[in-house]
Amino acid sequence: MSEEISKKGPNFIESIIEKDLSEGKNQKKVHTRFPPEPNGYLHIGHAKAICIDFGLAEKFGGKTNLRFDDTNPSKEDVEYVDSIKDDIRWLGFAWNDNEFFTSDYFEQLYQWARKLIIDGKAYVDDQSAEIIATQKGNPTTPGEESPFGSRSVEENLDLFERMKLGEFEEGSRVLRAKIDMSSSNMHLRDPLMYRIVKASHHRTGEDWAIYPMYDYAHGQSDYIEGITHSLCTLEFEVHRPLYNWFLDQIVEEGKVRPEQTEFSRLNLSYTVMSKRKLLELVQKDEVNGWDDPRMPTLSGLRRRGYTPESIRNFVDKIGVTKVDGVIDVSLLEHSVKDDLNVKAPRVMAVLDPLKVIITNYPEDQEEYLETDNNPEDESMGSRKVPFSREIFIERNDFMEDPPKKFFRLGPGREVRLKSAYFIKCEDFKKDENGIVREVYCTYDIDTKSGGPAAGRKVKGTLHWVSAMHAIKAEVRLYDRLFSDANPDGHKDKDFKEFLNPDSRTILKNCYVEPSLLNAKALDHFQFQRLGYYNLDPDSTAENLVFNRTVPLRDSWAKKA
Ligand code: ATP
Ligand code: MG
Repeated sequence: MSEEISKKGPNFIESIIEKDLSEGKNQKKVHTRFPPEPNGYLHIGHAKAICIDFGLAEKFGGKTNLRFDDTNPSKEDVEYVDSIKDDIRWLGFAWNDNEFFTSDYFEQLYQWARKLIIDGKAYVDDQSAEIIATQKGNPTTPGEESPFGSRSVEENLDLFERMKLGEFEEGSRVLRAKIDMSSSNMHLRDPLMYRIVKASHHRTGEDWAIYPMYDYAHGQSDYIEGITHSLCTLEFEVHRPLYNWFLDQIVEEGKVRPEQTEFSRLNLSYTVMSKRKLLELVQKDEVNGWDDPRMPTLSGLRRRGYTPESIRNFVDKIGVTKVDGVIDVSLLEHSVKDDLNVKAPRVMAVLDPLKVIITNYPEDQEEYLETDNNPEDESMGSRKVPFSREIFIERNDFMEDPPKKFFRLGPGREVRLKSAYFIKCEDFKKDENGIVREVYCTYDIDTKSGGPAAGRKVKGTLHWVSAMHAIKAEVRLYDRLFSDANPDGHKDKDFKEFLNPDSRTILKNCYVEPSLLNAKALDHFQFQRLGYYNLDPDSTAENLVFNRTVPLRDSWAKKA
C-alpha cells in the first residue's frame, strides 16, 4: 500500500481491492481496463476514469489494459483511436503492450452466442426494435414473451449465421438472450445481444454484418482479458445483473471472474460532457475542432495550457465515491493555477499597450536588467530584459484623473516598473478623439535594483516591455464556453442556446518581451499580473500566438 492511501484513507474501491487481496482472490492480482469507445475525443470525465483505472493498478502493483470498445462501426474512426492513445500517454499512464480491441474478440463472442443458442438461452427475433420495445413493458408491468422465443435451436443457428453473413437487412432481425420477460430489472427482459449493421469497420472491414451490444461484449471481453476489477460509472449499476448473467454462461472453474464496481461520473459546472454533444459543437463549427482550447476534451485542455499534473491532482481532490454531483469548474481552474504557479516562468507581456516615454532617459541608450524567472523557485534562475526610453504599459494602468486608491500611474504619481526603475508621470497627450496616446514620465536613476534609492517605498508595481525590443503577438483570451452553470439542464432548451458569446477574444496588438521568441509550442508562462498563458501550436516566428489558460484573478467569483 502506498503512503498516499494510508494518509488519506482508502476510497471504497481501494477497500474492495484490499479485501480481495487479503482473501487471496484472483491469485492476488489486480488487473483493470479502460474501455473507451473510439467515437470521439476523450474529455475531462474520461480523465477521472483513466486515473481510477490506471491509478489503482499502479497502487496495487497490477496492470491496466487499454481496450477500444469498437462495436459500433458507423460512429467510430481511427482518428479517435489515435487521439485517445495520445491523451492517455499525455496524462502520464502506460498500458505497455496491453492494447486490445473488442473487435479482436468478435469470433469468440460469436461462438459463445452460438453456445447460448444451443443451450436454449438465446434466439433470433424477427420483430422491429419498436415492437420489441413495446413488448418489454415497464418496471411495474411484466413484458410479453416474443412470438419468436420458441424457435428451434436449428432454426436459430441457421438464422444467426445468415445474419452474420449479411443476408438480411439492417433492423430486420436481432439476437436476444432468453432470460426473464417479467424480471423487475428491465435489462434482464430478453436483452439484445447482436444487431445487424452494414458498415465498414475500421479494423475488421466487411467481415461482419452483425455487431455485439455493449452489455454482451463488455463482460465477455473482461473475462477474456482476465480483468479482476471492471470499474465503470454509476449508470451501469442496473446493468450489473446482466453483466453477471452473461458471465455465468461462460466462466470456467479456476479462471478469474471479473467483478463490476461503479463510481459516480464527473460532472462539471458550465460544461457539457457527452461525446455526442461535443461532436455536435465540432460539426456545427461552434468551436474550432476537438482541441479548441474552450473544449473540455483532454486535447482542448492541453492546448489551453492545462498540465497533466493539474488534471491528475484535480481528479485526486474530487475523490472516488458513489454520490452523484456537480463539481464546480473553478476547482479545475484552481488546480491548474496551483501547478503553473510553481512551474511557469514569469515574463512580461502587455496586452493593451499604452506608450510611455521616459523623457530624462538618454535617447539611444538601452540596458539589460536582471529579473527572476520564478520567485517561487530560485532554481529557475533569472534572465535579462531590455529597457529603453520608450516602453509599453497596460492602458488600464494609467488614469488621467485617478481616485485616491488607484495605486498605478496618473499625473504626478510615481510607480515602480518591475525589475527596473521608479517612474513619475509628468504629462500625457491625447488624440483628437480624447484617447490618451502617450504618457511622459521621468525616471529616478537611483531606484534601480541595488541602487541607493532602491528601498524607497512606492505603492504600485507595473509590468512593461521596451518598445524598441518588444515582439508583437496575438493573444487569445478564453472564457467559459457556456454562460449557464448547467447548460444541459433546461427542459425545453437546447444546450447550444447557452453558449457564451464572449468565450473567446482575440487581441492582435499585444507586445511581449523578446525572450518569448524562444518559446516552444505549449510552453507555459505567467504573464506577470495577468495570468497563465501558453504558446499555441499554430504560433510562428512571424506571428506569435499565445492562449490564456487562466487569469490570475477569477472574474466569475465576483459575478456569482
Ligand atoms: P460520453 O457519455 O461522454 O459519450 P461514454 O461513457 O459513452 O462517454 P466511453 O468511451 O464509453 O464514453 O467511456 C469510457 C469509460 O469512461 C467508461 O468506463 C465510462 O464509464 C468512463 N466515463 C465516461 N464519462 C465519464 C465521466 N463523466 N466521469 C467518469 N467516467 C466517465
Ligand atoms: Mg459509451
